[in-house]
Amino acid sequence: MQSFNSKLQNIGDSIFSVMSQLANGQKALNFSQGFPEFNPPQQLIEFVNRAMVNGFNQYAPMPGYKKLLESVAEKERIIHNNNLDADMEITITPGATAALFATIQALVNPHDEVIVLDPSYDSYDPAIRLAGGRPVHIPYDIQNLEFPWEELELKISAKTKMIILTTPHNPLGLCFTREDFECLAKITEKYQTIILSDEVYEHMVFDGKKHVSVLGIESLKYRAVKISSFGKTLHTTGWKLGYLAANKILTAEIRKIYQFLAFSTNSAMQIGVAEFLDANPNWELGLSDFYQSKRDYFFNKIQNPKIKGTPSSGSYFQMLKIDHGFEMSDYKFAVELTKSRKIACIPLDVFIQDQPQTNWFRFCFAKNDDTLKQAADIISNL
Ligand code: PMP
Ligand code: GLN
Repeated sequence: MQSFNSKLQNIGDSIFSVMSQLANGQKALNFSQGFPEFNPPQQLIEFVNRAMVNGFNQYAPMPGYKKLLESVAEKERIIHNNNLDADMEITITPGATAALFATIQALVNPHDEVIVLDPSYDSYDPAIRLAGGRPVHIPYDIQNLEFPWEELELKISAKTKMIILTTPHNPLGLCFTREDFECLAKITEKYQTIILSDEVYEHMVFDGKKHVSVLGIESLKYRAVKISSFGKTLHTTGWKLGYLAANKILTAEIRKIYQFLAFSTNSAMQIGVAEFLDANPNWELGLSDFYQSKRDYFFNKIQNPKIKGTPSSGSYFQMLKIDHGFEMSDYKFAVELTKSRKIACIPLDVFIQDQPQTNWFRFCFAKNDDTLKQAADIISNL
């Protein structure tokens, strides 16, 4: 066989594939890969089905169907007060992953540095490397759940092309505030750093907080890209439908790449989602309460002095620190837990560049209450 230089040396299957496969093989509760246990609304399925029957089975326009673009623009205006041009500033993509990839390939040039905050979502680093860029990883203060402002100021330079943020954060659940964004704007102003803001959990923020989008920050929006995912918002992770939003100049540049990455996104689903959002104008507004009650149910049911954590502020992930007393990587412990206690979670070390043992684990609470109870019982008895 012809030998070749791997473009992504040392990269194997993603932790989400690995843990879900293990959970299935072990017949364990799967609290690892982030996806809801429940179905999307029946009406949404019917609308997609109707779109197929009505002939939406061929290529959609490259940026997306006008109906969905306008619906997203309307939502952005009503929910976040973001005024976006539906035709020129929003692009529908096959999930947030493709939006992230297209954005990074379009805006990062060889030798550019891109700051990534660890723990970081697994697709960021490889996408930067494939663009020829250099990921610069900065760790959050995990014990105190604090953003590493000082280190960011030290590491940012004229070489820094972009900073990738995740808010609400996966896996920590932290949410960027307006003050945080304003602080970021000050730090990045000198170098005009692009802010890529991954906001796929934007509609899941708890305890009365309100999501703040990068596009709502006057001093950042002209050099920012926001990414969202209908997979999270509509309980349809398997449909792979998302969008990116940015000003006309950035959007035009990103679309140049996107047209050769996917060209366009599933047509019937775009129509079905647009009709569903029109018929249910308050859908997103109910999601935070829905997930907050799941978080509370799960978190409050766990009674175990060896387990520590603070309730997640956003996303459908809860971090728990398990003081298990072994010197063993988080990954190894998560595998053991899946095999011996029949519950799968995501170890934190795999989200951090040097993979230190942290004893922190991520649990996805997008589950039915009886599944949450079973999981809480297992965790309480560890
Ligand atoms: N960003 C973050 C932070 C995520 O957690 C995920 C995973 N769901 C994605 C991006 C990818 O989203 P999608 O499934 O829409 O590609
Ligand atoms: N975003 C999901 C998570 O964090 C998983 C996505 C995937 O499986 N690639 O669990």
